[in-house]
Amino acid sequence: MGLAVADALQSEGWQVTVFEADDRIGGMSAMFDFDGLRIERYYHFICKTDAPLLALIEALGLTSRLRWRTTRMGFFYDGAMYEWGRPDALLRFPHLGRREKLRYALHVLRARSMGDWRTLDGVEATEWIRSWVGDHAYELLWRKSFELKFYEYQQSISAAWIATRMRRVALSRKNAFHEQMGYLEGGSEALLDALAARLGARGGSIRLRSPVESVLSGDGRVTGVLSRGKTHTAELVVSTVPLQFVPALAPSLSRQELARVAAIQNIGVVCVKFKLSEQFTPYFWINVNDPRIQVPGIIEYTNLNPIGSHVVYVPYYLPAAHTRWDWDHDTFAADATECLKRMRPEWNPATIEATHVSRYRYAQPICGPGFADKLPSMQTSISGFLMADTSHCYPEDRSISESLRIAEELVRLTGSPR
Ligand SMILES: Cc1cc2nc3c(=O)[nH]c(=O)nc-3n(C[C@H](O)[C@H](O)[C@H](O)COP(=O)(O)OP(=O)(O)OC[C@H]3O[C@@H](n4cnc5c(N)ncnc54)[C@H](O)[C@@H]3O)c2cc1C
Repeated sequence: MGLAVADALQSEGWQVTVFEADDRIGGMSAMFDFDGLRIERYYHFICKTDAPLLALIEALGLTSRLRWRTTRMGFFYDGAMYEWGRPDALLRFPHLGRREKLRYALHVLRARSMGDWRTLDGVEATEWIRSWVGDHAYELLWRKSFELKFYEYQQSISAAWIATRMRRVALSRKNAFHEQMGYLEGGSEALLDALAARLGARGGSIRLRSPVESVLSGDGRVTGVLSRGKTHTAELVVSTVPLQFVPALAPSLSRQELARVAAIQNIGVVCVKFKLSEQFTPYFWINVNDPRIQVPGIIEYTNLNPIGSHVVYVPYYLPAAHTRWDWDHDTFAADATECLKRMRPEWNPATIEATHVSRYRYAQPICGPGFADKLPSMQTSISGFLMADTSHCYPEDRSISESLRIAEELVRLTGSPR
């Protein structure tokens, strides 16, 4: 989001500097060297509805690196693996009755064809889902994933947010039988590098390992930022860091703004990655409902993007107050290995060639009913200081594409061109 803001402001004549706390650009979409493979710390797929992302890919001349692939979805339920995500798989699934299957299909169609999301904005998601699919199907298909993704917030999720998530995936299909997801050859780094190169070529700069420590202001106007103990003057400061960091950076925001930020809850993620010498399953993602497995699903990324090895992501979504959040990386990796063994008892852990664990504290905002009206305004009470993060994607889920859309909105609010 920050890079896209910088890129757009630069196009409008601003001299820009990007301050990045990390040792690399990209935030959640950043990549790393995984035992010789360049790969994202968190898996990323592109959907056909990701219009802002597809437009940027084209504008940066990367269309030839965009690939679409038919992907398969699995459902691991109570010790057995089932094909999922297509009408014939639903018909074959033995644990739901005919009427339940029909209700489930109608629910997907309802989300897919959702008109105005505001009709669902004030509705609580689990009640909404139950009203469509019934209690038994909810227990079987949804309860565990709500529990393992939202914990104490599981009854506090907006139906509009769930519906737009369902719609994004449901619309990324070739036809009813074939889900199609996209990826960029070279991963999100291809996009990040192209943006960074354009920024540099036009005289902008990116400072890595340079956390902003304070947003400076005087007489109600922004004057710059403090980073690594040094003052940098600026007429305009746009914050795209997780909102939870902003009160400490800009304590002179109004009491109402600080209260709005403080009210936003966020779930963290710890993502275990395994590089395997053999394919684990043919599925890109597998939803899991099994009492012995404490993740809502796993992603075999290389079934989307065949980068020459087999990589499985096991994401643990956790509130930071959860006892498991304090586990060290080895404990997560050992638990994730057990998850894979439970899914495929015949699987040989000796096929693990490398393991990596990444952790991000603010990975998923909790978007409750009526969330749109609770968000802090992007234009703050400090003139020339704007702020947004992935919460502002609501009613959509956070994604690279949505961060680009928010970046456009931020730039519009600056009142550019200069
Ligand atoms: C497990 C997982 C799976 C995902 N899957 C997908 C997917 O399939 N498709 C998709 O499109 N999206 C996916 N996403 C979401 C996507 O990665 C994010 O929505 C997107 O990268 C958000 O980018 P951002 O710049 O808005 O925010 P962030 O990635 O949160 O970036 C914020 C940046 O601010 C920096 N920062 C923090 N504090 C400071 C400071 N004081 N000074 C300077 N810099 C600071 C951070 O280091 C970071 O680089 C996934 C995310 C996760 C966690």
